Amino acid sequence: MGSVAQTKSKEPIQATAPKKVSIFGATGSVGCSTISLINERPENFQIEVLTANRNVKKLAEQAISLKARKAVIATTDLYEELKDCLSGTGVEAAAGADALIEAASEPVDWVMSAIVGAAGLAPTLAAIQTGSVVALANKEALVCAGDMMLQNVEKFGATLLPVDSEHNAIFQVLDLEQMDKVERIILTASGGPFLKLSYEEMRNVTLAQTLAHPNWDMGAKISVDSATMMNKGLELIEAVHLFPVGNDDVDIIIHPQSIIHSMVEYGDGSILAQMGAPDMRTPISYALGWPNRHKFKANRLDFGEMSALTFMEPDTSQFPALKLAKFALNTGKSAPTILNAANEVAVGGFLKGQIGFLDIVSIVEETLNCAKFVEFSDISDIYVEDRNGREIASNILRNKCA
Ligand code: NAD
Ligand code: MG
Repeated sequence: MGSVAQTKSKEPIQATAPKKVSIFGATGSVGCSTISLINERPENFQIEVLTANRNVKKLAEQAISLKARKAVIATTDLYEELKDCLSGTGVEAAAGADALIEAASEPVDWVMSAIVGAAGLAPTLAAIQTGSVVALANKEALVCAGDMMLQNVEKFGATLLPVDSEHNAIFQVLDLEQMDKVERIILTASGGPFLKLSYEEMRNVTLAQTLAHPNWDMGAKISVDSATMMNKGLELIEAVHLFPVGNDDVDIIIHPQSIIHSMVEYGDGSILAQMGAPDMRTPISYALGWPNRHKFKANRLDFGEMSALTFMEPDTSQFPALKLAKFALNTGKSAPTILNAANEVAVGGFLKGQIGFLDIVSIVEETLNCAKFVEFSDISDIYVEDRNGREIASNILRNKCA
């Protein structure tokens, strides 16, 4: 199976020229963490493309300070504003969905795919088709188009590096040359801000409570996904695509401290875990330097200060999103695409205050109940099913608001 980087070079690569880097979703949480790492060793990088959805000011500031070649704003209406901000700086401005894809088609050494949601799929695929090294934070792209993305990775000789902290942890401890000795992958989950609440007690939680993740500081969409635990469901599907394991070889365990980022269990009883402070710069740094490791001033673990590492089985009646993701994974065909599309619509509705917290996963469930799942033969089928899932979910959402 064409999957994540199959071989890990034992020899560190000596850098010759600065690495040409493009960052899709530069203004977001992962994008900014990536830039902060680049700023620690700016002489090692040449910034080609930076992109954002609407935040012109931040994008322009980033592009100017990093001397990027091009800045792309996804929202066409904001082109003039971006052009004005970049006037006289030598940074090229572009706007719109096609400009994003065009920018992703320009070959570079390393691409950060950190747009949130299925909106990141087309540029990520375009980057893969250049045969580049693609650091993947955008899990939704993999959830809705995993098989097709990995076929492209193989066809175009690209390398996919997992940035999601759990998958990056697995990547660090998984021996791809001895997969027959791997018994299972154990994905850890913090359980999010509502771990101690019952399902019913979550009914009236506020947006502010939902966004206040106990361990991680992340964008709004993934913060909501962490609270419903749909994030772990998406990560289950992500893991099965990234690593050569079966649907039942990935277990999820709640570990509220987020110190162990995931584990691999081998047939001899050994379990290898990757640990660290909950800081996205660590997995991003691993992907940015791969196959070398780099030092940076990461938050360090102090074992003397740590009282306990605890674990518990997730309760699917408390977090039904986990059941839905497993259902979509096992159903295959377009089910994961529909799951993701419905979740994006529902989370969007919750962020706008249109629905309550428990409605998010209900909308996903009702959408899966209504949808017909189809096989994909072409990438265009995925976009059709993504739209289809969004349409069904939007109708359900409207009825809930009425
Ligand atoms: P964010 O909301 O902070 O940033 C998202 C970025 O994507 C921004 O630059 C935004 O401008 C851009 N964007 C949003 N919608 C867009 C659209 N329609 N078209 C083009 N660009 C668009 O999100 P984030 O927390 O940085 O997460 C990014 C991705 O990384 C997500 O897929 C998330 O699941 C994944 N991830 C994030 C973290 C984290 O700690 N934040 C951890 C693991 C995985
Ligand atoms: Mg994660």
